[in-house]
Amino acid sequence: MKSMADNIILECTECGERDYLSKKNKRKHPERLALKKYCPRERKVTLHRETK
Ligand SMILES: [Zn+2]
Repeated sequence: MKSMADNIILECTECGERDYLSKKNKRKHPERLALKKYCPRERKVTLHRETK
């Protein structure tokens, strides 16, 4: 059985940390995500982009 929501990796654009796993519906949101997230390495909120 295949879900329409897939796990994605969000990478910190400042230090490259890849701690964030999230889900999105690729049919509704085919574009790359870019979100403000808390980075545990830098201990501050930075911009994170979807990566593979
Ligand atoms: Zn970072």
